Amino acid sequence: MKTIIKIKGTPYKVNFVDALYEVDGLTDTKNKNIYIQKSEDKEELQKTLIHELTHAFFYECGLIQYCNSEILAYWIENNLSDIFNSACNLIDCLKQKKK
Ligand SMILES: [Zn+2]
Repeated sequence: MKTIIKIKGTPYKVNFVDALYEVDGLTDTKNKNIYIQKSEDKEELQKTLIHELTHAFFYECGLIQYCNSEILAYWIENNLSDIFNSACNLIDCLKQKKK
């Protein structure tokens, strides 16, 4: 299965494949392709997508020096949902206080 997404305005082809060699995902910023190994584990799949999208976003934002950083990609894949949930919880707190 393939789908196209835009990353900072640049179309990337996201290819969901049955198997990749030694990795769960791969991002080819030169040819604008992302390969994701299919998984029934939704949390694992989400982490792989966040990881590969991080590489592509760094590249398309002009942060070329960070786009191949596995340390940054792993950190974001493991912490982005916690950061997002914390922000949502704070917004909920603000809404509760207004009532
Ligand atoms: Zn990576």
